[in-house]
Amino acid sequence: MTALATTDTPLEDVLDAELAERITTAFGHRTVGALLHTLPRRYRQHGQRYDKRELVDGERVTIIGTVATAATRNYTTKQGQPREMLTLTVKDEDTTFKVVYFAGRKIKYMLPVGTVAMFDGTVSRFRQSLDLKHPEFLVLRSVSGPGGQLKGSGNLAALARLSAEIDAEGGPSLFDRPLLPIYSAKESVTSWDLLGAVVTAIRALVPVVDPLDDTVRAAAGLMGLDEALRKAHLPGCVEDADRAGYRLRFDEAIALQLLLGARRRFVARDPAPASPVRGDGVRAAMEARLPFELTAGQEAVLEEISADLTVDEPMNRLLQGEVGSGKTVVGLLAMLQVVDAGRQCVMLAPTEVLATQHHRSLTAMLGDLGEWGRLGAADQATRVVLLTGSMSTAERRAALLDIVTGEAGIVVGTHALIQDSVDFFDLGLVVVDEQHRFGVRQRDRLRAKGRDGMVPHLLVMTATPIPRTIAMTVFGDLEVSELDELPGGRRPISTSVVPARDKPRWVERTWERVREEVGAGHRAYVVCARIDADTTDAPDGATKGGGDDDKGSDRPPLVAAVELHEYLSSGPLAGLRIGLMHGRLPPEEKDATMSAFASGGLDVLVSTTVIEVGVDVPEATVMVVMDAERFGVSQLHQLRGRVGRGGLPGLCLLVTNSREGGKAMERLKAVAGTTDGFLLAQLDLVQRREGDVLGDAQSGALASLRLLSVVDDGEVIEIARRHAEEILDADPGLDHHPALAERVRRLSGSDESDYLFKY
Ligand code: ADP
Ligand code: MG
Repeated sequence: MTALATTDTPLEDVLDAELAERITTAFGHRTVGALLHTLPRRYRQHGQRYDKRELVDGERVTIIGTVATAATRNYTTKQGQPREMLTLTVKDEDTTFKVVYFAGRKIKYMLPVGTVAMFDGTVSRFRQSLDLKHPEFLVLRSVSGPGGQLKGSGNLAALARLSAEIDAEGGPSLFDRPLLPIYSAKESVTSWDLLGAVVTAIRALVPVVDPLDDTVRAAAGLMGLDEALRKAHLPGCVEDADRAGYRLRFDEAIALQLLLGARRRFVARDPAPASPVRGDGVRAAMEARLPFELTAGQEAVLEEISADLTVDEPMNRLLQGEVGSGKTVVGLLAMLQVVDAGRQCVMLAPTEVLATQHHRSLTAMLGDLGEWGRLGAADQATRVVLLTGSMSTAERRAALLDIVTGEAGIVVGTHALIQDSVDFFDLGLVVVDEQHRFGVRQRDRLRAKGRDGMVPHLLVMTATPIPRTIAMTVFGDLEVSELDELPGGRRPISTSVVPARDKPRWVERTWERVREEVGAGHRAYVVCARIDADTTDAPDGATKGGGDDDKGSDRPPLVAAVELHEYLSSGPLAGLRIGLMHGRLPPEEKDATMSAFASGGLDVLVSTTVIEVGVDVPEATVMVVMDAERFGVSQLHQLRGRVGRGGLPGLCLLVTNSREGGKAMERLKAVAGTTDGFLLAQLDLVQRREGDVLGDAQSGALASLRLLSVVDDGEVIEIARRHAEEILDADPGLDHHPALAERVRRLSGSDESDYLFKY
C-alpha cells in the first residue's frame, strides 16, 4: 500500500517517479489534487454506442473491443528487414475497427482472437473503414482469463502492480468496472497511464475536508467533495459521474463568484464623487437641444446611470447595445451630469481614429455648450479636449494643462490616457467606449486618478453582445444595462453571401451594386482580411483559420487591401474616389482618410478591420467584406453595423471562397440570416470557445478554470453566484471559511485576494 496523501501531496510521492514525471511534463499537474481535478473525457460503458462525431479522421480515440479476427502477412522492409504485418478487426459493440501493426510479430501473441483490449491511437477513415495504425494497447481480459500478467504496450509496471493489488484485496477488478474512465491522452501518456495514476492517488487519498458548509451543500444538492473526487473517476453509475462532475464544477464557479463578489464589495468601499442631476446645468441644456427624442431604452438606461452617479458609491456599469443603438449620447449625457457637479470626465476609445472621431462628434453635438472660455459660449458651457499620442508636443502640453487645471470638462483619448501619468484636477467619471475587455487591472489604475481618495465612476460601453452567463462570469463585478432597440426607426441591415468560387458573376454584381449606391449619393466600405501581399497572416484583428473546412491547396490567397484598392481603382470602380485605410498607415494619414470619407471627399473606403468599432458615417449604405469566412461571427456583426446608420437601408455583402455545405459557409449564412447580436454571439462562442471571444479579459482567474465552461455551465454559475453572495454577506472577509478563502486565493493567482479580504 502506498503512503497516505492529501490533495497537496506531490505526485512523485504517490506514483512511480517515472510516471509522475511524464504526467507533469505532459499536463503540468504536480499534485494529487491537480490530477484528480482532471476529469475523464468520457466513460466507457458496456453496450454504449460510439458517438459518431468522435470517430473523425485524425482524432485521437480510445476504444475498448474484442479481437474478432487476426491475420498476418510477411513482408520485407526497404532496408531488407523481414517483418510481420498484423491486421486485426476489433469489434466494439456495433462498431468495427481495423487495427494494424507493421511490426506485429510479438504483438500477435498478446492479442489473439477473443482478447478484450483497450486501444488508444489516431483514427483514419478510409472509405467505410475506421483504421487505427500502431495504437497503444492494453489487454483487459486475455483469452486465458484474468489473473495473468498485464499485457500491453508501453511501461505497464505501475498499472500491473496496482491491478494485482486490487485483485489481491478481492475488490472488483480494475478493468471490470461498470464505467471505465477514459482520459484525454497525450503522445507520452496513455489513457491507462492516467487511469493507473488516478486510481493509485485515490487509494492513497485521506478523506478530503469539504470547504463548503453543510447548509450550502444541502441547499445546492451537492455531493461531498471527498466523494466527488473519487466518484468522478470511478463512478458506480452514470448518475454518480454526473453529480461528481457537477460538484467539482460548482467549486470552481463558487470560487470565481466569491472573487468577483469580493471585488464588487472592495470597490464599493471607497467613496466616489456624488454627482446629482442639476436642473439648470449643461446636461439639461444639452437634453433640451438634442436633435432627436431619446428612445425609451436610452431613457431607461440613462435613468439607471443617473441614479448611480448621484450617490457616493462608485458606479461600475457595463452598457451593452447593438451597433447604432445610440450609446454615445447616453455616455455624453452621463458625462455632462458629472460636469454639472464640477468634475471632469474621460472618454476612452480603442484607437486614435475613434478618439478623434468622438472628439469631433461630441464637439459638434455640444455646439456652444462645449466652448467654455470662448466668446459667445453658453453660460453652462464646458470644454472638450482631445489627447492622443500623435499630437505635437505643443498641442499635447496645452491639452495636459487644460486637464490638470480642470478647465477641460471632458477629455477624449485612447487607453494610453490612464496608463500615462496624466493628472486630472478632479476626475469623476470614466467612460470606456467599445472596449469590453477593460480588465480589472486597468480599473485598478483608475482608482489612483480620483481626487481625495475618491474613485471615479466607471461606464463601460460595448456593442459586442455578451451572453448573460458570460457577463456574469467575466464581468461579474459590473452591473449590466442593455439598449436593445435601434433609434430613429432604422431598418436592420440586409446581408447576403456572395460565393465567389461557385458564382463569379455575383462578384461582378457586387461591384455594380457599389457603383449604384455611390451613384445615389451614398458611400461604401470594402473590408479585407489582409493589408498587402507581404502580410502572411490576417492582420488588424481578422481571425486566423476561420475557414477551417477550406484547407487545401486550391484555396486562393487572401485578398489584400492594397492590391484590391489598385484593382478597383483601375477596374470595376474606375472613376470613383477610393480611399485606402489600414493599420500600418501613419496616424495622420488614417485620420485624414477617415475625415475625407466621413465628409464625402471619398466614395469608397477599402480598408482592413481598423474601421471595426464605433465609426459613424451615416451616408455609408453598403459594405463588402472580402474573404468573409476569415472573420468571426461577432466581428462580422460589428462590421456590418457600420452601414445603414443614417436612416437609409444598409446592405452587407459577404464575399467568400468557401464551398457550399462547409462549416464556414454555414457560419456566414447564419450571420446573413439573423440580425440578433446575442444569438450570433452565442453561435460564435459555441464555434470558437470562450477563450477567443473573451481574450484576456480576466485571464488570470479564467485561465485557472479547469472544468468550468462559461458557455455550457451557465446554470451552475448562476446558482454558485447566489451562494457566494450569501457567504460574503455573512462573512465578508471569509474569516470563517478558510478553505474557501484559500481557493479564491489560488484562483486569483496573485496577492489580490490579500487586499480584497482585508477590511
Ligand atoms: P453606437 O451605439 O453604435 O455607439 P451611436 O451612438 O454612434 O451608436 O449612434 C448611432 C447614430 O444614431 C448616431 O448618428 C446618433 O446620432 C444617432 N442616434 C442616437 N440616438 C438617437 C435617437 N434617439 N434617435 C435618432 N437617432 C439617434
Ligand atoms: Mg459607438
